[in-house]
Amino acid sequence: MNKEVDVLIVGSGFGGLGLGAKLKQNNHPSFVIIERANDVGGAWRDNTYPGVECDVPSHLYSFSWKMNPNWSKTFAPGDEILNYMRDCAKDENLLENIDFNTEMLTSTWNSKDKLWHIETTQGLYIARYLVTAAGHLADEHLPNIEGLKDFKGDCFHSARWNNDADLTNKRVAIVGSGASAIQIVPEISKIAKEVVVFQRSAAYVVPRPDSIYTEQQKRLFKRMPSEMNKLRQDIFWAGEYNFIQRRNVPKFVNEAKKTALDHLESQVEDPDIREKLTPDYEIGCKRLLISNHYFPTFNQPHVCLEASALHKVEGNTLFGKSGVRYEDIDTIILATGFEATQPPFAKRVFNDQGHSLDAQWDKGMQAYDAITVHNFPNLFVINGPNTGLGHNSVVYIIEAQVDYIMEALEHIKIENKTVFEAKKSSEEQFVTRLQQMSEGTVWLAGGCKSWYVDQRSGNLTLVWPDFAYSFRDNNGTFHREGYDLS
Ligand SMILES: Cc1cc2nc3c(=O)[nH]c(=O)nc-3n(C[C@H](O)[C@H](O)[C@H](O)COP(=O)(O)OP(=O)(O)OC[C@H]3O[C@@H](n4cnc5c(N)ncnc54)[C@H](O)[C@@H]3O)c2cc1C
Repeated sequence: MNKEVDVLIVGSGFGGLGLGAKLKQNNHPSFVIIERANDVGGAWRDNTYPGVECDVPSHLYSFSWKMNPNWSKTFAPGDEILNYMRDCAKDENLLENIDFNTEMLTSTWNSKDKLWHIETTQGLYIARYLVTAAGHLADEHLPNIEGLKDFKGDCFHSARWNNDADLTNKRVAIVGSGASAIQIVPEISKIAKEVVVFQRSAAYVVPRPDSIYTEQQKRLFKRMPSEMNKLRQDIFWAGEYNFIQRRNVPKFVNEAKKTALDHLESQVEDPDIREKLTPDYEIGCKRLLISNHYFPTFNQPHVCLEASALHKVEGNTLFGKSGVRYEDIDTIILATGFEATQPPFAKRVFNDQGHSLDAQWDKGMQAYDAITVHNFPNLFVINGPNTGLGHNSVVYIIEAQVDYIMEALEHIKIENKTVFEAKKSSEEQFVTRLQQMSEGTVWLAGGCKSWYVDQRSGNLTLVWPDFAYSFRDNNGTFHREGYDLS
C-alpha cells in the first residue's frame, strides 16, 4: 500500500534527525524519515574503524537544542557520537517517524498531482515535499586498481570496517593518508606486524588539542548549561578565526604552515621520512588534519611510508606507483574517501521531464541558497552543494538549513500555495556570487587536487567559501523573492 505524507526525508544522520526533530517540536502532522540502514547515525553508524573520533570539538559538533554535558573528552569517539544521536532520536520521539531498511531507489516529481513519487525497497511513498539528507560522505569511493578485486586477503573500506578481520600480527596495507587514515594508522600499528601506508599526496597535520572532561566539569555543565553554551561559543569563534587562512591571507597562511611543519619536525626523527610527509601545495587546500599520534607512528621500524599511490596488486604483492613492491600483504584497508562531488542520491532524483539531478549537475552540484534547485520543485537538499566546511561544524550548517526549510514550509502555507520552485535567475546569481567568493581561496589557488573542487568545471562545489556565520546570515532564512510559488 502507498504511504502518503506531507514531508519525506531521506537519511537519518545529523541532517535527517535535525529536520525531523524540528518538525516534531512544531507538531508537524505528517512526515517520515526513510533510512536504508537499520539504525540512525549516518556517518557515525557507518564509520566504526579503530580510532574514529570527530575533528570538531563535541561541545560544538552537536545540536544546539540538545547540548550534552557528558562528552568524555574534547573530541568524542565515534560510538559516543552515535549514542548521542540515538538519544536525540529517542528523546524527540522520532523513532515512530523513521522507516528503517528503506532505501530510496528513485524519486520522481509528478507535475499532474504535484507530488513526489518515491520508490523504495519497501514500496511506494507519495510526498508533497522531498528532503534529501543523504549525506556527502555517505557512499564510499572505491578506487579502480589493477588486480585489486583478485586480492586473496581481506580488503575493505574504512567506512565498512570488517570486525571479523583480526589484524594482530598481520601485514597490513592502508591506501590513503586523509582524515580517516590518520586515525586508523596509529591504532592498527599497535597490533599489526607490519604496516604500509600508500600516500598519494602528503597532508598537513596540526596538533590535536584534546583533553578529558573531569567528573567535576561534567557536573558543572549539567548544573549550569550556560557554561556549556559559553564553551560552545568559544569553540565556534576559534574555528571562525581559522577561516581567515583559507582566504589565503599571507600572515595567517604562514602562521598555520609553521604550526604544521613544526609539528612534523618535532614528531618525526628521520629527515627523509619528514620530506616525504611534507605537502607540496598550500596549507588548507586539502582538508587540514589534526592528530598527535599519526606522525610518530613512522618512527617505528614496522611502519613504512610508501610516498606514492597504490598502482597494482598481483596476488598478495602490492606495487606503489614508484615501482616499489610490498610482498605477503594479508589485509588491504581502503581509506580512499567518499563519492562527494557526484553524490549517488542525485542519480535517483528526477524531475517531470525525466531528467535526473545528477544530469542537471553535469558540471558540478549547485543550488539556490545552497538548498533548492531550479527545475526540481518542492525539493530541499540538506548538506548538498557548498555546505561543507574545512574549519567549523557541519551540524551548525545543518541547523541553518533546517531553519530555512521550516520557514519555507510556513511561508507556503500562509500564502495558501502548494508548490515552490527556485527561479533560474536566482540560482544563477547565487552561484555566480559563490564563485566570486571562491576566487583566490586556498581551495582554488592552493595548487592541490581535492574533492572540494569539481574537476569537470574547476568550481568549488562542496565547501561554503566563507565564515560559517555567514552561511547562516545568507542561507538561514527563506528568501521568498527567489521563488515561484503556485
Ligand atoms: C569519519 C567521519 C568523520 C567526520 N567528522 C566530522 C567532524 O568532526 N566535524 C564535522 O563537521 N563533520 C564531520 N564529518 C562530516 C559528516 O559527514 C557530517 O558532519 C554529518 O555527519 C553529515 O550528516 P548528514 O546527515 O548530512 O549525512 P550522513 O551522516 O552521511 O547521513 C546520511 C544518511 O542517509 C542515508 N542514505 C543515503 N542514501 C540513502 C538512500 N538512497 N535511501 C535511504 N537512506 C539513504 C545513509 O544511510 C545515512 O544514514 C565526518 C564524516 C566522516 C565520514
